[in-house]
Amino acid sequence: MAFWRVLQVLRRSVPRAAAYPRTVDLSRPCVRAMSAGGIPTDEEQATGLERKVLDALKKGEDPFNIRKPKTYPGTKDNPHVVPSVNKQRIVGCICEEDNSQIIWFWAHEGQVNRCPQCGAHYKLVPYELPH
Ligand SMILES: [Zn+2]
Repeated sequence: MAFWRVLQVLRRSVPRAAAYPRTVDLSRPCVRAMSAGGIPTDEEQATGLERKVLDALKKGEDPFNIRKPKTYPGTKDNPHVVPSVNKQRIVGCICEEDNSQIIWFWAHEGQVNRCPQCGAHYKLVPYELPH
């Protein structure tokens, strides 16, 4: 009697197992977007400040200086740009690429600012913080 019961249970479970195959169909792309019922992406779930930053980055803006700053050769015609909310700012110059020493000096708005050791030019540019 017990053996007959086991066969009944097995017979019922076979159609269920066929309805949910365990193999992964690699021909279909993996869809994880929230619209497809998957995990939401950062753009789909971001709110508040994170949303503002993502929207600004889409427009090509960088209001919170997230991206790496643009580099300049540091010549008189093309000086290093130093953004500042004040009229002066302390600048640190690593004169050569593999130097471990930083040369600190003041850069002033409207003046020619040069590193006292290597002579690289720096230009102070007014910068407003985003509100
Ligand atoms: Zn220098």
